[in-house]
Parts: sequence; structure tokens; C-alpha cells
Amino acid sequence: MSKFADFDKGNNSIASTNIMRKFIVAGNWKMNTTVPEGVALAKAVAEKSKEVPANVELVIAPPFTHLGAVAAAVEGSKVALSAQNCADKAKGAYTGEISVDMLKSVGCEYTILGHSERRQYYGETDGKLVEKMKLALEAGIKVILCVGENLQEREAGKHFDVCRSQIENVLYHFSAEDMANVVIAYEPVWAIGTGKTATAEQAEEIHASIRNTVEAKFGRETAQDMTILYGGSCKPSNAKELFAQPDIDGGLIGGAALKADDFIAIALSF
Ligand code: PEP
Repeated sequence: MSKFADFDKGNNSIASTNIMRKFIVAGNWKMNTTVPEGVALAKAVAEKSKEVPANVELVIAPPFTHLGAVAAAVEGSKVALSAQNCADKAKGAYTGEISVDMLKSVGCEYTILGHSERRQYYGETDGKLVEKMKLALEAGIKVILCVGENLQEREAGKHFDVCRSQIENVLYHFSAEDMANVVIAYEPVWAIGTGKTATAEQAEEIHASIRNTVEAKFGRETAQDMTILYGGSCKPSNAKELFAQPDIDGGLIGGAALKADDFIAIALSF
């Protein structure tokens, strides 16, 4: 059964429960495509986005170099722009960094923060993420915060604890009001780019526990309204089963976001 069975499109809420949760499909392009390739991909996504229901938000996160050109390519469509990261400083002598004001000035609505590749390869700590998130929210940029366990942690049965502490260490520094501009992406590291997807049951039990962690600090309403995405080898063939779970509100998509047809097929899987 479709997740929209009791969705009230008029007021953008799930009618029976009054939940104001958004459904989102976000594409993380990572370090892929040249600018002309990225513009062509963005144009194709924008064109096909007309097929996607109004209550599913589409977000694309191209590399920094593409943002201005991609913003122009998707202008007037329902596709929102995201960065993949931002600096932990507002401005100044930080060679190679990109500030939230710069992102805002090219039309970014979102930034991804804490992707496992940033945590693993670039030493991104929860402390740094707090600094980045403060700057992003102050600048009016919404944050897609990634959490998730690696294979060793999953095999040791620590996956619930890992996700809980990643949420506590970052989100607990913010207010319930801030949570309106935060999306959580659960991305088991062992499923990213590996072709191994968490089963719908594995993903749902973690999503429910993440929602409980949000509720413990911010209360039930905020937790129920929080959009929690699944990421990790999500593709057209498995998106429907994942998105049918009560606590999975869409996906953060890597590889499959590089093909407009696959990305849109995923967005049509609710
Ligand atoms: C990601 O890295 O955010 C991701 C979900 O990648 P993939 O879909 O390729 O596993």
C-alpha cells in the first residue's frame, strides 16, 4: 500500500495523525561529473521531476564547482539544491574552504553534513559537525545530518549505540525549533556503494530507534515531524520496500542519483 494512502495533500500532513513529516529523495553526487555533465544531469532531473508528486521533495547535491551552473539549470523546477559539506568557519583565511554564506549566495537550500566518507577520510568529528551545523542553520541552510555504523560496529551489535551517540553528540546541542530545519540520514557504512542494502526490517528498526533518540530530547511532536532518510545502495528495485516502512521518509541516494531515470524512479517509489 502506498505511503500516501492517508496523506492529506491539501495541508501536507498525514491526515490520521496530523504528522507534518516531509518525504524527501536527495541525490549525493559525491566527486562525480564535470560541470557540463552535471548540468546535463540536473536538466534531465528537473525535466523528469514533473512526474514526482508534490509532496515528495527532490534535492540534488552536486560538487561545489557545479552549484552556480546547476542552480540555473534547475531554476523554476521543484528540484532543490544542496551542498555536500560546508566550512566550520564563517569566513576568512581558510584556504580551500567553502562558507555557508557562499552556499546561500548560489541558492543552496540544504547542506549534507557528517557523511561517513567525510568522517572516515577527512577526520570529520561530531564537534566539528556542531560548528558547521550552527553556521548552516544561522545562514538559513537546512542540514541533512548523516549517521550510521560501520561493518565492525554492526557485527559487534553496536549499531543502535553508534547512531544514538552520533545524534546525541550533534543534535542535542540544538533546540527543538532548529529541528524543523534538520533531516537525518541513516546510512550504514557497510551498505554505501557496496551494493549491499540493509533489509527493510534492519533499516526500520534503526530509524525507529533514531526517532526515539530525537524524542528523548525534543519531545514526541518534533520526533514525529522529523524526516529520516535511508541511504546505502538504495535503487529503484528496493526503494519501494524501504519507503513503505513507517519510519523511513525517503532516501539519500549515491550511485543511483547519477542517472536521472533511476533517481526519478526512486522518487516515484512511495
Ligand atoms: C551515499 O553515499 O550517500 C550513498 C547512499 O551511496 P550509495 O547509494 O551509492 O550507496
